[in-house]
Amino acid sequence: MTTQQAKIIDGKAVAEALRATVASRVAVLKANGGPTPGLAVVLVGSDPASQVYVRNKNKQTLEAGMNSFEHPLPEDTSEADVLALVAALNADPKVNGILVQLPLPKQIDAQKVIDAIDPAKDVDGFHPANVGRLATGGDALVPCTPLGCLLLLKRELGNLSGRKAIVLGRSNIVGKPMVQLLLRESCTVTVAHSRTQDLPGECRQADIVVAAVGQPEMVKADWIKPGAVVIDVGINRVPSLTDPTKTRLVGDVATAEVAKVAGAITPVPGGVGPMTIAVLLRNTLEACCRQNGLPFEEVL
Ligand code: NDP
Repeated sequence: MTTQQAKIIDGKAVAEALRATVASRVAVLKANGGPTPGLAVVLVGSDPASQVYVRNKNKQTLEAGMNSFEHPLPEDTSEADVLALVAALNADPKVNGILVQLPLPKQIDAQKVIDAIDPAKDVDGFHPANVGRLATGGDALVPCTPLGCLLLLKRELGNLSGRKAIVLGRSNIVGKPMVQLLLRESCTVTVAHSRTQDLPGECRQADIVVAAVGQPEMVKADWIKPGAVVIDVGINRVPSLTDPTKTRLVGDVATAEVAKVAGAITPVPGGVGPMTIAVLLRNTLEACCRQNGLPFEEVL
């Protein structure tokens, strides 16, 4: 039995450092008479998880010295009203970033709303123009969660060129943009999904494993090449081990056993999760600089 223990990657600390750097850049921008970056968040309905997430975004946006514009709308808001709000935010020069919290109620076509956001203000990086630019190597606003994963990987491994990576999951929000980011870093990338044959065997080839499947603790120790870096994007709520009336959060990776084989691994919670809002602030700063013709120096 192996006793090796992987390094636990502290995403919370990395995210704090990233937010502090963004805040100092915002302070310099304002001190030089520049604009105050502004982020508008549209939340339709009262989904408790979304409300918590939006509250955190608002708090951290203000802490970074940016303006936060919250737009809570009732659950029965029509698609036309959301599109009208997006059009107003597109036209508002104080708003540099627009984020429409997903999921949206069923009467609203989420893709139609995403398509209506000005790509220059699309800090979630979901607009087809940004998706296309990421795929073709142009300047794109990149989805926050996969960019957060990439930052953690680069801090851990430095140059990623030539490494073998596998991305488990092919969603538009995480899996596909993660693949594009790893390709941009010259990794050799495998994309796995629910139809992949021999997932463990595919995984065992990889120096980098990014798990984004939404399946509690699916990735096991014998799927992992010794020394590989494992990034666990999953957020799954399962019954508590001690009190079945309570729940606990687990990722897509069986952390305790995988940590005996991997070189480094992100925990859940405290790994990828905190990076997402930190990258959102980074993206808002980038969007603000670009809209005002100012240089954007990478904050990572
Ligand atoms: P989706 O449900 O949109 O996509 C899941 C992907 O995983 C699909 O491509 C699916 O394949 C694949 N998949 C599902 N089951 C299996 C399986 N048994 N074997 C192989 N592949 C499988 O999820 P998201 O991408 O939105 O999210 C993934 C996870 O990441 C979730 O746990 C989510 O909560 C979490 N998340 C965390 C964030 C953070 O900030 N940390 C942000 C966003 C998401 P197929 O396409 O074939 O159906």
